[in-house]
Amino acid sequence: SPRRSLAGKVVVIDPGHQSKADLSREPIGPGAAETKEKTAGGSSGVKSRTPEYKITLAISKLLKAKLEANGIKVIMTRTTNNVNLGNIKRAEIANKAHADLFVRIHTDGSANIKVNGVSTLYPAFNKWAAPIYK
Ligand SMILES: [Zn+2]
Repeated sequence: SPRRSLAGKVVVIDPGHQSKADLSREPIGPGAAETKEKTAGGSSGVKSRTPEYKITLAISKLLKAKLEANGIKVIMTRTTNNVNLGNIKRAEIANKAHADLFVRIHTDGSANIKVNGVSTLYPAFNKWAAPIYK
């Protein structure tokens, strides 16, 4: 059964952002000269004003419970909001866990009120992601 085939798989869930942004910079990939902010502030609810880091953690905890109910081992990059994790540290957690899947949860915003819906991002085919691209 599909559930049985998932048993024993390892999924690392990364609830996007954290209570305090870290705008210091780090390379975008191993050996890269290009850098980006370690952890940007994220968006917030248009009506609720709830910050993204709170929503992503709540969603991630729900996802964790559902995956574990199907026999999947789940590791979270964070379980509280008061952390300081850059993208490198988050990736290292997934690599160290030998994750079968690394899922990053975000609730992105847009200044364009005509934009809505769900988006899924996956690794580009480049020298860093080539081994996991398929
Ligand atoms: Zn985000």
